[in-house]
Amino acid sequence: MEPSPAPASLIPDMTATVRRIVQETPDTATYWLAIDEPERRAAYRFRPGQFNMLYVFATGEVPISVSSDPAHTQRLAHTIRATGRVTDVVRSLHPGARVGVRGPFGTPWPVREAEGQDLLIVAGGLGLAPVRPIVYEAIRARDRYRRVVVLVGARGPEHVLYRHQLDAWSHWIRGRAIEVHLTVDVPDDAWPFGHGVVTTLYPQVGLAPKRTTAFVCGPEIMMRFAAAGLVDHGVPPDRIHVSMERNMQCAVRMCGHCQWGPAFVCEDGPVFPWSRASAWLGVDEL
Ligand SMILES: Cc1cc2nc3c(=O)[nH]c(=O)nc-3n(C[C@H](O)[C@H](O)[C@H](O)COP(=O)(O)OP(=O)(O)OC[C@H]3O[C@@H](n4cnc5c(N)ncnc54)[C@H](O)[C@@H]3O)c2cc1C
Repeated sequence: MEPSPAPASLIPDMTATVRRIVQETPDTATYWLAIDEPERRAAYRFRPGQFNMLYVFATGEVPISVSSDPAHTQRLAHTIRATGRVTDVVRSLHPGARVGVRGPFGTPWPVREAEGQDLLIVAGGLGLAPVRPIVYEAIRARDRYRRVVVLVGARGPEHVLYRHQLDAWSHWIRGRAIEVHLTVDVPDDAWPFGHGVVTTLYPQVGLAPKRTTAFVCGPEIMMRFAAAGLVDHGVPPDRIHVSMERNMQCAVRMCGHCQWGPAFVCEDGPVFPWSRASAWLGVDEL
Protein backbone atom coordinates (compact mmCIF):
# COMPACT_ATOMS: atom_id res chain seq x y z
CA MET A 1 0.00 0.00 0.00
CA GLU A 2 1.25 3.47 -0.83
CA PRO A 3 1.90 5.71 2.16
CA SER A 4 -0.74 8.42 2.28
CA PRO A 5 0.67 11.76 1.20
CA ALA A 6 1.06 14.45 3.85
CA PRO A 7 -1.68 17.09 3.69
CA ALA A 8 -0.65 19.74 1.19
CA SER A 9 -0.60 22.44 3.83
CA LEU A 10 2.13 20.61 5.77
CA ILE A 11 4.53 20.73 2.85
CA PRO A 12 6.35 24.00 2.23
CA ASP A 13 4.91 24.49 -1.23
CA MET A 14 6.61 27.80 -1.92
CA THR A 15 10.26 28.70 -1.93
CA ALA A 16 11.62 32.15 -1.34
CA THR A 17 15.01 33.74 -1.82
CA VAL A 18 16.73 35.87 0.80
CA ARG A 19 17.22 39.26 -0.87
CA ARG A 20 18.57 41.36 1.97
CA ILE A 21 19.62 40.90 5.58
CA VAL A 22 19.60 43.74 8.08
CA GLN A 23 21.33 43.10 11.40
CA GLU A 24 19.03 44.70 13.97
CA THR A 25 20.66 43.77 17.29
CA PRO A 26 23.55 41.46 18.20
CA ASP A 27 21.36 38.32 18.01
CA THR A 28 18.52 39.43 15.71
CA ALA A 29 18.35 40.19 11.99
CA THR A 30 15.63 40.97 9.48
CA TYR A 31 15.51 38.67 6.46
CA TRP A 32 13.79 40.18 3.44
CA LEU A 33 12.41 37.33 1.34
CA ALA A 34 10.95 37.29 -2.17
CA ILE A 35 8.68 34.36 -3.00
CA ASP A 36 10.26 32.74 -6.04
CA GLU A 37 7.25 31.92 -8.21
CA PRO A 38 5.94 35.20 -9.68
CA GLU A 39 2.24 34.21 -9.52
CA ARG A 40 2.52 33.08 -5.90
CA ARG A 41 4.44 36.22 -5.06
CA ALA A 42 1.73 38.40 -6.62
CA ALA A 43 -1.07 36.47 -4.91
CA TYR A 44 0.46 36.40 -1.41
CA ARG A 45 -1.43 38.50 1.17
CA PHE A 46 -1.13 38.71 4.95
CA ARG A 47 -2.68 40.70 7.78
CA PRO A 48 -0.72 42.30 10.65
CA GLY A 49 0.04 39.67 13.30
CA GLN A 50 0.04 36.65 10.98
CA PHE A 51 3.06 34.39 10.62
CA ASN A 52 4.75 32.15 8.10
CA MET A 53 6.34 28.76 8.66
CA LEU A 54 9.89 29.12 7.33
CA TYR A 55 11.65 25.91 6.39
CA VAL A 56 15.43 25.94 6.48
CA PHE A 57 16.46 23.10 4.20
CA ALA A 58 17.89 20.03 5.93
CA THR A 59 17.30 21.66 9.31
CA GLY A 60 13.67 22.31 10.15
CA GLU A 61 10.76 24.69 10.21
CA VAL A 62 9.91 27.61 12.52
CA PRO A 63 6.95 29.98 12.87
CA ILE A 64 8.02 33.58 12.27
CA SER A 65 5.76 36.67 12.16
CA VAL A 66 5.74 38.73 9.01
CA SER A 67 7.08 42.11 10.08
CA SER A 68 6.81 44.15 6.87
CA ASP A 69 4.09 46.30 5.32
CA PRO A 70 1.00 44.26 4.32
CA ALA A 71 0.56 46.55 1.31
CA HIS A 72 3.93 45.54 -0.14
CA THR A 73 4.27 41.78 -0.42
CA GLN A 74 6.90 41.62 -3.16
CA ARG A 75 9.38 41.47 -0.27
CA LEU A 76 8.41 39.96 3.09
CA ALA A 77 10.38 40.83 6.22
CA HIS A 78 10.94 38.27 8.97
CA THR A 79 12.85 39.52 11.99
CA ILE A 80 14.49 36.49 13.57
CA ARG A 81 16.36 36.00 16.83
CA ALA A 82 18.84 33.13 16.94
CA THR A 83 17.70 31.01 19.87
CA GLY A 84 18.16 27.35 18.94
CA ARG A 85 18.44 24.59 16.42
CA VAL A 86 16.75 26.19 13.38
CA THR A 87 17.15 29.88 14.09
CA ASP A 88 20.90 29.43 14.70
CA VAL A 89 21.19 28.06 11.16
CA VAL A 90 19.11 30.98 9.83
CA ARG A 91 21.94 33.15 11.08
CA SER A 92 24.30 31.55 8.57
CA LEU A 93 22.05 32.33 5.57
CA HIS A 94 23.28 34.89 3.04
CA PRO A 95 21.50 36.85 0.31
CA GLY A 96 20.68 34.39 -2.46
CA ALA A 97 19.91 31.52 -0.05
CA ARG A 98 16.55 29.81 -0.45
CA VAL A 99 14.04 28.76 2.20
CA GLY A 100 10.67 26.99 2.09
CA VAL A 101 7.58 28.98 3.04
CA ARG A 102 4.09 28.01 4.19
CA GLY A 103 1.60 30.64 5.15
CA PRO A 104 0.30 33.00 6.16
CA PHE A 105 -1.24 31.47 9.30
CA GLY A 106 -2.99 32.64 12.43
CA THR A 107 -5.38 35.30 13.62
CA PRO A 108 -4.45 38.90 12.83
CA TRP A 109 -4.46 41.86 15.18
CA PRO A 110 -8.03 43.26 14.97
CA VAL A 111 -6.77 46.63 13.79
CA ARG A 112 -10.21 47.80 12.59
CA GLU A 113 -11.48 47.67 16.20
CA ALA A 114 -9.24 50.63 16.90
CA GLU A 115 -10.79 52.86 14.25
CA GLY A 116 -12.16 56.04 15.77
CA GLN A 117 -10.17 55.26 18.93
CA ASP A 118 -6.71 55.76 20.32
CA LEU A 119 -4.53 52.97 18.92
CA LEU A 120 -1.95 51.93 21.46
CA ILE A 121 0.92 49.53 20.77
CA VAL A 122 2.99 48.19 23.65
CA ALA A 123 6.02 46.21 22.49
CA GLY A 124 8.82 44.53 24.39
CA GLY A 125 12.07 43.50 22.66
CA LEU A 126 11.44 41.23 19.70
CA GLY A 127 7.70 41.85 20.22
CA LEU A 128 8.04 44.94 18.04
CA ALA A 129 8.30 42.71 14.96
CA PRO A 130 4.73 41.30 14.95
CA VAL A 131 3.21 44.74 15.60
CA ARG A 132 5.24 46.66 13.01
CA PRO A 133 2.70 45.89 10.25
CA ILE A 134 0.03 47.65 12.36
CA VAL A 135 2.13 50.81 12.31
CA TYR A 136 2.52 50.68 8.52
CA GLU A 137 -1.27 50.42 8.21
CA ALA A 138 -1.90 53.16 10.75
CA ILE A 139 0.47 55.50 8.92
CA ARG A 140 -1.39 54.88 5.67
CA ALA A 141 -4.81 55.37 7.29
CA ARG A 142 -3.75 57.88 9.94
CA ASP A 143 -7.08 59.73 9.75
CA ARG A 144 -9.00 56.68 11.01
CA TYR A 145 -7.53 56.90 14.48
CA ARG A 146 -7.39 59.55 17.17
CA ARG A 147 -3.97 59.07 18.71
CA VAL A 148 -1.50 56.43 17.53
CA VAL A 149 0.92 55.66 20.35
CA VAL A 150 3.81 53.18 20.19
CA LEU A 151 5.52 52.27 23.46
CA VAL A 152 8.75 50.30 23.08
CA GLY A 153 10.71 48.64 25.85
CA ALA A 154 13.96 46.70 25.54
CA ARG A 155 16.69 45.30 27.76
CA GLY A 156 19.23 47.89 26.62
CA PRO A 157 19.81 50.42 23.82
CA GLU A 158 21.54 47.76 21.69
CA HIS A 159 18.38 45.59 21.81
CA VAL A 160 15.96 48.14 20.34
CA LEU A 161 14.73 46.95 16.93
CA TYR A 162 14.23 49.20 13.89
CA ARG A 163 15.90 52.14 15.62
CA HIS A 164 16.04 54.47 12.57
CA GLN A 165 12.48 53.68 11.65
CA LEU A 166 11.27 54.54 15.15
CA ASP A 167 12.75 58.02 14.68
CA ALA A 168 11.02 58.36 11.32
CA TRP A 169 7.63 57.22 12.68
CA SER A 170 7.59 59.95 15.25
CA HIS A 171 7.54 62.65 12.58
CA TRP A 172 4.23 64.30 11.84
CA ILE A 173 2.14 62.58 9.22
CA ARG A 174 -0.42 64.81 7.53
CA GLY A 175 -0.44 66.95 10.65
CA ARG A 176 -1.07 64.03 13.01
CA ALA A 177 1.67 62.36 14.97
CA ILE A 178 2.66 58.80 15.56
CA GLU A 179 3.82 59.12 19.16
CA VAL A 180 6.79 56.86 19.88
CA HIS A 181 8.15 56.46 23.42
CA LEU A 182 11.19 54.34 24.23
CA THR A 183 12.53 52.92 27.45
CA VAL A 184 15.22 50.39 28.35
CA ASP A 185 15.90 48.38 31.49
CA VAL A 186 19.60 49.21 31.47
CA PRO A 187 20.51 52.48 29.71
CA ASP A 188 24.00 53.58 28.74
CA ASP A 189 25.34 57.12 29.10
CA ALA A 190 24.20 58.10 25.59
CA TRP A 191 20.59 56.89 25.99
CA PRO A 192 18.30 59.94 25.87
CA PHE A 193 14.96 58.21 26.54
CA GLY A 194 13.24 56.38 29.39
CA HIS A 195 14.75 54.09 31.99
CA GLY A 196 12.65 51.20 33.31
CA VAL A 197 10.15 48.62 32.08
CA VAL A 198 7.65 49.57 29.40
CA THR A 199 4.78 50.11 31.86
CA THR A 200 6.70 53.04 33.35
CA LEU A 201 5.73 54.91 30.17
CA TYR A 202 1.98 54.70 30.88
CA PRO A 203 1.69 57.74 33.16
CA GLN A 204 3.59 60.02 30.79
CA VAL A 205 1.43 59.06 27.80
CA GLY A 206 -1.85 60.21 29.35
CA LEU A 207 -4.01 57.24 28.38
CA ALA A 208 -7.70 57.77 27.68
CA PRO A 209 -8.72 54.25 28.73
CA LYS A 210 -12.32 54.28 27.56
CA ARG A 211 -11.32 55.07 24.00
CA THR A 212 -8.15 52.98 23.78
CA THR A 213 -7.59 49.76 21.86
CA ALA A 214 -4.25 48.17 22.74
CA PHE A 215 -2.01 45.65 20.98
CA VAL A 216 0.58 44.17 23.32
CA CYS A 217 3.47 41.96 22.21
CA GLY A 218 6.61 40.74 23.89
CA PRO A 219 7.86 38.11 26.31
CA GLU A 220 5.02 36.49 28.26
CA ILE A 221 5.98 38.10 31.56
CA MET A 222 6.04 41.52 29.91
CA MET A 223 2.61 40.98 28.33
CA ARG A 224 1.16 39.97 31.70
CA PHE A 225 2.34 43.13 33.39
CA ALA A 226 1.65 45.38 30.41
CA ALA A 227 -1.93 44.14 29.93
CA ALA A 228 -2.70 44.06 33.66
CA GLY A 229 -1.38 47.63 33.91
CA LEU A 230 -3.72 48.75 31.14
CA VAL A 231 -6.66 47.10 32.92
CA ASP A 232 -5.64 48.95 36.09
CA HIS A 233 -5.77 52.17 34.07
CA GLY A 234 -9.33 51.28 33.02
CA VAL A 235 -8.81 49.87 29.50
CA PRO A 236 -11.49 47.15 29.02
CA PRO A 237 -9.88 43.65 28.80
CA ASP A 238 -11.63 42.88 25.51
CA ARG A 239 -9.97 45.93 23.93
CA ILE A 240 -6.50 44.66 24.83
CA HIS A 241 -4.96 42.06 22.52
CA VAL A 242 -1.83 39.97 23.06
CA SER A 243 0.12 37.63 20.76
CA MET A 244 1.06 34.27 22.24
CA GLU A 245 4.05 32.10 21.43
CA ARG A 246 4.03 28.38 21.90
CA ASN A 247 6.28 25.69 20.47
CA MET A 248 4.64 24.99 17.13
CA GLN A 249 5.24 22.37 14.47
CA CYS A 250 2.39 21.97 11.99
CA ALA A 251 0.55 25.32 12.19
CA VAL A 252 -2.67 23.62 11.02
CA ARG A 253 -4.13 22.33 14.32
CA MET A 254 -2.93 18.77 13.82
CA CYS A 255 0.19 18.12 15.89
CA GLY A 256 -1.07 19.52 19.19
CA HIS A 257 2.27 21.09 20.15
CA CYS A 258 0.82 24.57 20.47
CA GLN A 259 -2.31 23.59 22.35
CA TRP A 260 -2.96 26.13 25.08
CA GLY A 261 -5.90 25.18 27.27
CA PRO A 262 -8.85 24.75 24.91
CA ALA A 263 -7.13 26.74 22.13
CA PHE A 264 -4.53 26.05 19.48
CA VAL A 265 -2.18 28.99 19.19
CA CYS A 266 -1.62 28.28 15.47
CA GLU A 267 -5.26 28.73 14.44
CA ASP A 268 -7.16 30.28 17.36
CA GLY A 269 -4.20 32.64 17.86
CA PRO A 270 -1.53 33.82 18.02
CA VAL A 271 -3.55 36.98 18.71
CA PHE A 272 -6.01 36.67 21.60
CA PRO A 273 -8.08 39.24 23.50
CA TRP A 274 -6.81 39.72 27.01
CA SER A 275 -10.32 38.83 28.26
CA ARG A 276 -9.56 35.22 27.14
CA ALA A 277 -5.78 35.05 27.53
CA SER A 278 -5.57 36.38 31.09
CA ALA A 279 -7.32 33.35 32.61
CA TRP A 280 -5.03 30.86 30.86
CA LEU A 281 -1.81 32.75 31.46
CA GLY A 282 -2.27 32.36 35.18
CA VAL A 283 -2.40 28.55 34.98
CA ASP A 284 0.92 26.72 35.41
CA GLU A 285 1.93 24.18 32.74
CA LEU A 286 -1.00 25.13 30.48
C1 LIG B 1 3.21 32.61 16.12
C2 LIG B 1 4.68 32.74 16.40
C3 LIG B 1 5.39 33.80 15.86
C4 LIG B 1 6.76 33.92 16.09
N1 LIG B 1 7.41 34.98 15.55
C5 LIG B 1 8.74 35.09 15.73
C6 LIG B 1 9.45 36.16 15.14
O1 LIG B 1 8.90 37.04 14.47
N2 LIG B 1 10.80 36.19 15.33
C7 LIG B 1 11.46 35.24 16.08
O2 LIG B 1 12.70 35.31 16.21
N3 LIG B 1 10.80 34.25 16.68
C8 LIG B 1 9.46 34.14 16.51
N4 LIG B 1 8.79 33.10 17.09
C9 LIG B 1 9.56 32.16 17.93
C10 LIG B 1 10.29 31.17 17.05
O3 LIG B 1 9.37 30.43 16.31
C11 LIG B 1 11.14 30.25 17.94
O4 LIG B 1 12.19 31.01 18.49
C12 LIG B 1 11.73 29.15 17.10
O5 LIG B 1 10.70 28.25 16.74
C13 LIG B 1 12.80 28.41 17.88
O6 LIG B 1 13.20 27.31 17.08
P1 LIG B 1 14.71 26.78 17.08
O7 LIG B 1 14.70 25.46 16.38
O8 LIG B 1 15.63 27.82 16.58
O9 LIG B 1 14.99 26.62 18.60
P2 LIG B 1 14.76 25.33 19.51
O10 LIG B 1 16.05 24.57 19.51
O11 LIG B 1 13.50 24.63 19.11
O12 LIG B 1 14.46 26.02 20.89
C14 LIG B 1 15.37 26.81 21.59
C15 LIG B 1 14.74 27.13 22.95
O13 LIG B 1 13.58 27.95 22.78
C16 LIG B 1 12.41 27.29 23.28
N5 LIG B 1 11.34 27.59 22.33
C17 LIG B 1 11.20 27.13 21.08
N6 LIG B 1 10.13 27.68 20.50
C18 LIG B 1 9.59 28.51 21.41
C19 LIG B 1 8.48 29.38 21.45
N7 LIG B 1 7.67 29.53 20.38
N8 LIG B 1 8.21 30.07 22.57
C20 LIG B 1 8.98 29.95 23.64
N9 LIG B 1 10.06 29.16 23.69
C21 LIG B 1 10.36 28.45 22.59
C22 LIG B 1 12.75 25.83 23.34
O14 LIG B 1 11.98 25.18 24.34
C23 LIG B 1 14.23 25.88 23.68
O15 LIG B 1 14.43 26.11 25.04
C24 LIG B 1 7.42 32.96 16.89
C25 LIG B 1 6.72 31.89 17.43
C26 LIG B 1 5.37 31.79 17.20
C27 LIG B 1 4.62 30.64 17.80
